[in-house]
Amino acid sequence: MDFKKFITIVEDFPKEGIRFKDITTLMENGEAYKKAIDDMAQFAKDKQIDVVVGPEARGFVVGCPISYALEVGFVPVRKAGKLPREVLSVDYGLEYGKDSLTIHKDAIKPGQRVLIADDLLATGGTIEATIKMVEELGGIVAGIVFMIQLDYLDGSEKLKNYEIFSLTHYA
Ligand code: 5GP
Repeated sequence: MDFKKFITIVEDFPKEGIRFKDITTLMENGEAYKKAIDDMAQFAKDKQIDVVVGPEARGFVVGCPISYALEVGFVPVRKAGKLPREVLSVDYGLEYGKDSLTIHKDAIKPGQRVLIADDLLATGGTIEATIKMVEELGGIVAGIVFMIQLDYLDGSEKLKNYEIFSLTHYA
């Protein structure tokens, strides 16, 4: 399926010079959304995944249905101050800004095989921070999936030691 047909490019959002890839138009189409999730779940099927981890908020939109398809659990990674129990926290840089991400300390058990899911790989800062948290908790990052990979940023360089699958690439 040509997923790009369903992704809308929005110029100068959220600030000038950014060509934002809007996946909500893909999600609005049931067939495209299902096929996107199915393809990502297919990549992970033989990787003995124990749990899917996704950063808020679009990582939930991608990660939760994949966890359902794989019949494994889902662990949310959230911005600081959102998770109610004891968290591990990591600072990270965004394509446009800086923040910190958190995960519940007991959410990943040592030795668990983790699939990380997000909508888009830009600079890789979000996923790098997510990997750091998973590994610090003793998890094994068995794969990483994206709907979109921006090839003009160096995100994949940061992830070169991991198995990545991206549905679409923008050069
Ligand atoms: P990175 O940390 O790789 O620089 O940025 C990726 C994160 O920022 C993802 O979690 C993603 O949701 C968000 N993001 C950055 N640019 C875009 C974009 O053009 N479209 C969408 N949908 N998300 C973006």
